[in-house]
Amino acid sequence: MISPDKRAWVRAAACRDTDPEDWFPLQGERNVPRWLRDLCGGCPVRRDCLEEALDHHDTGIWGGLNPQQRNRLRRGRTRYGYCIHCGALYQQPKKTRATCSEECRRARHAELKRARREQARQQDEDL
Ligand code: SF4
Ligand SMILES: [Zn+2]
Repeated sequence: MISPDKRAWVRAAACRDTDPEDWFPLQGERNVPRWLRDLCGGCPVRRDCLEEALDHHDTGIWGGLNPQQRNRLRRGRTRYGYCIHCGALYQQPKKTRATCSEECRRARHAELKRARREQARQQDEDL
């Protein structure tokens, strides 16, 4: 979707080899297709992309959000976040949650537990 230009982050964009037309849905098509959302969710530069779009772009899908969603974000009516477990972009409820779903929350919790156990084991070995 992004025309090649000087910005360094563009080179790392997950969408750089896709058809730009996919990122500019026709008027009236508001739903961001699942595959675009997934691509943005796993994109290493999604934050740069979304920040750029919030400042400069009123059309197209950027950072996984369509223009209407970006407008809501600009007006502070909606909060979006990136899941710290799977990386998906999701609408955050008022009370900040770091993961997009209960499933990711549990997976993240289990991951942290495993990491702590591993750390403790390492420390035991070092003694
Ligand atoms: S966040 Fe989405 S639109 Fe932005 S650069 Fe990455 S893949 Fe492309
Ligand atoms: Zn998730």
